[in-house]
Amino acid sequence: SDSHFPIPISPSDVDYSQHFPHFFPSGGEDENKNSELLPKIRFADIGCGFGGLLISLSTLFPDTLMIGMELRDKVTEYVKERILALRATNPGQYENISVVRTNSMKYLPNYFGKAQLSKMFFLFPDPHFKEKNHRRRVISIQLLDEYAYALEVGGIIYTITDVEELGVWMRSCMEDHPLFTAVPEEELDLDPVVKLLTSATEEGQKVARNGGQTFKAVYRRIALED
Ligand code: SAM
Repeated sequence: SDSHFPIPISPSDVDYSQHFPHFFPSGGEDENKNSELLPKIRFADIGCGFGGLLISLSTLFPDTLMIGMELRDKVTEYVKERILALRATNPGQYENISVVRTNSMKYLPNYFGKAQLSKMFFLFPDPHFKEKNHRRRVISIQLLDEYAYALEVGGIIYTITDVEELGVWMRSCMEDHPLFTAVPEEELDLDPVVKLLTSATEEGQKVARNGGQTFKAVYRRIALED
């Protein structure tokens, strides 16, 4: 249950020097903790699973801090170990990725401030097929309000699934939300991140092995019109 993992009271309560020691000044002076000068996490992979996407993004954006959020304890521990092993065998690399165990549907605002993020990923989320369980879906109109708050204007939400019904649902939630607009296909073709949605994620690789179809929806955070 939730009581088994720490819950920060606010984004400044999270000690990121533990996660990204190379990016934070050594010594960890308390007075610097809230400083605007400290680097900020820019990408969040929600329900990151085994961390394949983070690992691919790490070398593509070596100066960008990114974090995975994962509910399962053992999976989170696995991702931590995987990152530490990569850091050990590739000195100076993989220092920009980390993972936290948390329930993102409850605690996302405890981790990210307003307009902090430039990319959010929701890749192959659990489908929750039954109508009464739709409120458990990680994309919903209500949760999109939180995601819009955490994303900067121009920031992007990437979603993909192999469950057509969920793909339609995620797209329609973002379509109906006033703060998101679809990223045009031409732009998606040029975005190197889009290819990773299937090739770098463990779920995407599984679907590809089985010759399955995927349904993606990529939306941009826009400013509210006057
Ligand atoms: N994104 C990864 C991929 O594409 O390979 C993993 C997909 S897996 C089907 C969905 C993951 O989301 C699981 O690891 C699950 O534990 C995690 N998850 C489900 N609900 C969550 C929540 N509320 N907060 C954080 N993680 C969650």
